[in-house]
Amino acid sequence: MARQRTVRILIVEHPSWRSLPKEDRDLLKAALAAARKAYAPYSRFRVGAALLLDERIVVTGSNQENASYPAGCCAERTALHAAMAQHPKAYVDAIAVVVPKVRRGEPVTPCGICRQALIEQEHRQGGHMRILLGMVNGAVHEIPSAESLLPLSFTPSMLKGGGRKRT
Ligand SMILES: [Zn+2]
Repeated sequence: MARQRTVRILIVEHPSWRSLPKEDRDLLKAALAAARKAYAPYSRFRVGAALLLDERIVVTGSNQENASYPAGCCAERTALHAAMAQHPKAYVDAIAVVVPKVRRGEPVTPCGICRQALIEQEHRQGGHMRILLGMVNGAVHEIPSAESLLPLSFTPSMLKGGGRKRT
């Protein structure tokens, strides 16, 4: 007899940046500033990301597009890979993502590939990172981990034939 399972994602909805601690606001501001450095001549969809590493180091990234579209890279992975290339032992406490163009509805969420990349970092560091998805002068959605943002993700244990750990 088949069973049904439901997977839930916890999202903490902050009405504005003001209700967040200063450290989180600063991280969102860094993501917003990074979006201005995006190279997005094709989509005109500028995205900024900022990672807060342990020892309070902030590393930012923006989307970097290419005429050969798949060669481009999202802001989240640009920031993550830059951070880990420079600080390979660092622990990522949080990532903030801001898309200045999006002013209505809900904050933009990372694409599937970026979610998978962020989950890999959680495995690498042995713990979760908080995800802050912010709108300019608007709401912030806080998600407690990358893993919760991509249920049933592909995990390192699968490569070893271990299958997925039940959540
Ligand atoms: Zn992405």
